[in-house]
Amino acid sequence: MSTATDLRPAAALRGRCELHLPGDPGYDAARTPWNVAVDQRPAAVAVPRTVEEVAAVVRAAATAGLRVAPQSTGHGAAALAEQGLDDVVLLRLHELTGVEVDPEHRTARVAGGTQWAEVVAAAAPHGLTALHGSAPDVAVAGYLLGGGLSFYGRCHGLACSSLVAADVVTADGTLVHTDADTEPELLWALRGGGGNLGVVVGLEIELLPIADVYAGMLLWEVGHAPAVLRAWAEVTRDAPDSLTTSLRVMSFPPLPQLPPFLSGRRLVVVDGAVLEDDDAAAALLAPLRALEPEMDTFARMPAAGLLGVHMDPPAPTPAVSDHAVLGGLDEEAIEALLALVGPDAETSLMFAELRQLGGALARPATVDGALPSLPGAYLLFALAVTPVPEAVAPGLAATSEVVRALAPWSLASRVLNFADRRVDVAGGYDGEDWARLGATRDRLDPDRRVVANHPV
Ligand SMILES: Cc1cc2nc3c(=O)[nH]c(=O)nc-3n(C[C@H](O)[C@H](O)[C@H](O)COP(=O)(O)OP(=O)(O)OC[C@H]3O[C@@H](n4cnc5c(N)ncnc54)[C@H](O)[C@@H]3O)c2cc1C
Repeated sequence: MSTATDLRPAAALRGRCELHLPGDPGYDAARTPWNVAVDQRPAAVAVPRTVEEVAAVVRAAATAGLRVAPQSTGHGAAALAEQGLDDVVLLRLHELTGVEVDPEHRTARVAGGTQWAEVVAAAAPHGLTALHGSAPDVAVAGYLLGGGLSFYGRCHGLACSSLVAADVVTADGTLVHTDADTEPELLWALRGGGGNLGVVVGLEIELLPIADVYAGMLLWEVGHAPAVLRAWAEVTRDAPDSLTTSLRVMSFPPLPQLPPFLSGRRLVVVDGAVLEDDDAAAALLAPLRALEPEMDTFARMPAAGLLGVHMDPPAPTPAVSDHAVLGGLDEEAIEALLALVGPDAETSLMFAELRQLGGALARPATVDGALPSLPGAYLLFALAVTPVPEAVAPGLAATSEVVRALAPWSLASRVLNFADRRVDVAGGYDGEDWARLGATRDRLDPDRRVVANHPV
């Protein structure tokens, strides 16, 4: 194991690509993840710009007795840092980006560190889009490896099922291509099977023939939360697959950089997409609109606009979070949530969110993959912003309190993409699929050299 005083193993990696060791002037900036609350201190940070550089670093790390951890943005860094990175080379992949769209076959080839914004922008001129999530700056690789919940999800399923091929640098530094005919077991595993099968340096994904979408958000002052939550629960209980929305009860500090409609306010917000014509979409939203939102941006928009409706933070943000999968949302569950985040509650959370699951997300995908579907009716996600280290412990307590309060309605399963901290990863998979994933990892990485935030 290397320590701050023994940099020799990591120093052997010098010359393969941009490299930062502890004590180097660039080390702190290079190791800082998107979630800036996470203090990850690896043995070295490598920033490869080519697939060849990735393979060279992985080989050199193996020779030096070090492990490697691929990281595209660091949105999911907390569970990685928890594992201790003293003998780990962090492979930050933000320079390994690029998108090529094949409009005829409706696919995109994406380099390993590419973020969704780049994919959506490249697909849009062809009248296409992708099963992206709510945030433009989440990377395609980490998102797909964790399943991928999109506002198109209840209609088109988990995003990981849109993966049709990949290029992976495995633990011994070999570049392996996988598709339906070549190394199909690896393709199966990459469809939602987590990040320690190798360094994903290229992905090919199916695109959706969607040029425009009825999407947006409805916003009320928090006093309306009880009525809005009850109406949303009713709308979503038996909703058609075309409707995928989220409801958040949010609190914003008074900050000049926030728009006035958010700054210093407590709000309830419903947002998402409706894959219907305008009249049918409006009919689905009518019970919510009847509650007279103060803002209503739902309208037909270019598909690329969907990346903006959830108002995810535009820049790296320090935060802690917790999540659960709910089987349903009855009156008692609504009351339990309102008791903690409703108008009469004092809360330190930035938001408590419910995302619709079900629909195509709950049905087995038409392609074979490690994560073919998700159980449950709603995803519960609670987040606290932690601008200073002292805010972390109370933030963790506040997020866990919400998850605990909804425990009577929660299933045992977890959603890797929303698991900030270490969780029982096996609980997210069918037992046979979990064993098959383990066998694939044993074959590709017998020495356990590739480290992921959620280990298989
Ligand atoms: C603001 C915000 C909004 C979000 N919205 C959604 C959403 O709508 N739907 C959803 O499903 N999720 C969402 N997420 C969760 C997000 O999908 C996960 O955090 C995901 O892991 C991020 O992937 P990343 O590559 O950007 O992050 P990273 O932290 O870089 O990666 C997470 C893990 O993925 C693996 N990994 C990443 N890149 C590679 C690679 N190239 N090769 C091999 N392994 C790799 C590693 O194991 C890594 O530890 C959101 C997160 C945030 C912070």
